[in-house]
Amino acid sequence: MGLDNKYYDILGVSRDSNETEIKKAYRKLAIKYHPDKNQDPSAVEKFKEITVAYEVLCDKEKRELYDKYGEEGLKEGAGGFGEDIFSHFFGGGGNFFGGGGQRRRGPRKGESLQHVLKVSLEDLYRGKVSKLALQKNSKCPDCDGKGAKTADAVKKCDDCHGNGVKVQLRQIGPGMVQQIKQQCNTCRGEGQVIREKDRCQKCKGNKTIQEEKTLKVNIDRGMKNQQKIVFSEEGDYESPDITPGDVIVILQQKEHTSFMRDGDDLIMEQKITLLEALTGFTFYIKHLDDRVLTVTNPPAKIITPNAIKCIHNEGMPKYRNPMEKGKLIVKFVVNFPTDGQIAPESAKLLEKVLPKPKPAPKPTSHDGIDEEVVLSDYDQPKRSAAGAAHRAEAYEEEDEDEHGGHPQGVACQQQ
Ligand SMILES: [Zn+2]
Ligand SMILES: [Zn+2]
Repeated sequence: MGLDNKYYDILGVSRDSNETEIKKAYRKLAIKYHPDKNQDPSAVEKFKEITVAYEVLCDKEKRELYDKYGEEGLKEGAGGFGEDIFSHFFGGGGNFFGGGGQRRRGPRKGESLQHVLKVSLEDLYRGKVSKLALQKNSKCPDCDGKGAKTADAVKKCDDCHGNGVKVQLRQIGPGMVQQIKQQCNTCRGEGQVIREKDRCQKCKGNKTIQEEKTLKVNIDRGMKNQQKIVFSEEGDYESPDITPGDVIVILQQKEHTSFMRDGDDLIMEQKITLLEALTGFTFYIKHLDDRVLTVTNPPAKIITPNAIKCIHNEGMPKYRNPMEKGKLIVKFVVNFPTDGQIAPESAKLLEKVLPKPKPAPKPTSHDGIDEEVVLSDYDQPKRSAAGAAHRAEAYEEEDEDEHGGHPQGVACQQQ
């Protein structure tokens, strides 16, 4: 697969540029092409383009996906994730471009809701459809979100003239007047009111009803821990001019008793005895899809302690290409016999089969001292974590003394 470089090209940055460089490049282009500053009709498209590119490259996860799979890798966002940031700029408190003024173009988007969904490694291997029930505010079906029986029962709020905000002028000095904007209390900022008798019976004029909604979460084969599945606009309904936010499901993989996952690879540990390491063995692996794998190592292939072997195509299925799989990596732990003795006649047999050691030549002592010593068991003293920390501290203090005992080093460390 050729590397997709489009987003980097759009921002004019190299593939290995860091976050600051990307931000800088984006800011420069955004100011140049912002539709408020650039009247050229093509500027809007260009601005959208750089915004989408920026949104991917400044997000660690998205950038990783993009680097690996190109635009294809970003598609799970259920349509136009670029719109999100776009509406964010033009909608609510966009202070990115300085002016704190509310610029509203197109509908504002509500807040997104995040849900953590715990999944097993088996689920991620085999794929699964999970159901997620959530309580949410939906548009009232009886009044279609108007809050009243008829459309003309909705009246413009007199207090704020339908603006939702009241502007007060306050003299703060001679010839100086301050403008204070406040949300209108009468209509709670909505700009409209409904008389009590005209209110919708079902939602009591609230425009929304509480509803339980079940989302079908498709866990695709090969999805990863922390991967996000976006349900576009499934969040709470607030009002007709606010697009409901997204519901974002974040997968959280439970630990597995046999396998650890590393990207598309699976890692497992297999304990064997010294005899098996030398003479061959067979062991079984119960895989994540319930298959049993039989692994046989012939006697001719000795397994050394901590040897790492792998089985191709028995790792995790690759996301979006599940017919291809990673590796199953097997780390071997060789258990030596710890008790008992090897009888002299058995030792003789072992000598026969195992390669003969080449004894190192004995060094000579100039003083002619040649002593016989005994090899004893050694109990390693336990070095506690606290002890280690104490040591490090002592070292730092010494270091400070050398630099005139300035306490700065300590202060920095504590921050
Ligand atoms: Zn009002
Ligand atoms: Zn209603």
